[in-house]
Amino acid sequence: MNNKYDLIYEGKAKKVFTHNDSDKVIIEFKDDATAFNALKKAKFEGKGKLNCLISAKIFELLIKKNIPTHFIKLKNENTMIAKKIKIIPLEIVLRNNAYGSLCKQTTLKSGTILAKPLIDIYLKNDELNDPLLTKDRIELMKIISSKDLDLIIDLTLKINVILKSFFKNIKLQLVDFKLEFGYDFKKNIILGDEISPDNCRLWDLNQENDKIVSLDKDRFRNDLGGLIEAYTEINRRINNFI
Ligand code: UDP
Repeated sequence: MNNKYDLIYEGKAKKVFTHNDSDKVIIEFKDDATAFNALKKAKFEGKGKLNCLISAKIFELLIKKNIPTHFIKLKNENTMIAKKIKIIPLEIVLRNNAYGSLCKQTTLKSGTILAKPLIDIYLKNDELNDPLLTKDRIELMKIISSKDLDLIIDLTLKINVILKSFFKNIKLQLVDFKLEFGYDFKKNIILGDEISPDNCRLWDLNQENDKIVSLDKDRFRNDLGGLIEAYTEINRRINNFI
């Protein structure tokens, strides 16, 4: 990255830099992958570029459907220009099927179709291991008002309807995903972060039997191999469709 921009923040998968306009930032997607609160780490050459391109297409789709997102435009293949937002320290997970941590913490069987989408909200705090929250705990910590929380939940449900149908068209099942929201300088709630196979579970629907074939970060979490091939396939299907 050109050194005329200052690094504001470095996360596990992205770096955020200043922009000449103070209400914008430059986000660079890294090739690093982490899982289990960074206990497991690796680097996949080309992952940053794929996640940046996939996220850009998905943000464009959501913007067309009137969802406010931080995405402005791509700068290059692994860098995007976005609106500067103040991230709310909550991870909003929406689940259409039971999988991952939900199956570890409940008696629900892996893959069960949920009668209605489940929203689980976690505290974005690595030191505390991103604990699962309740509405009352969110209120106690004064993270956001209950009105803003309702707005975020409503937006997440709308995003699920759009993404579920989009992914179905490209023969992918949207099992679950994680979103992060923030406030812009006018205090509007805006979707931030990324939407990519790093934070969505996507299963291939081009399978003849009911076998689960993950085309997402579970390839790394569960040592399945072929992560770049899976992300490349998702990017290919998106580009063939849009
Ligand atoms: N997720 C994420 N970041 C996290 C935790 C989860 O992006 O720190 C995503 C994950 O990719 C999946 C969804 O949120 O699409 C639900 O993850 P889950 O709670 O099942 O946790 P996991 O099984 O990944 O530990």
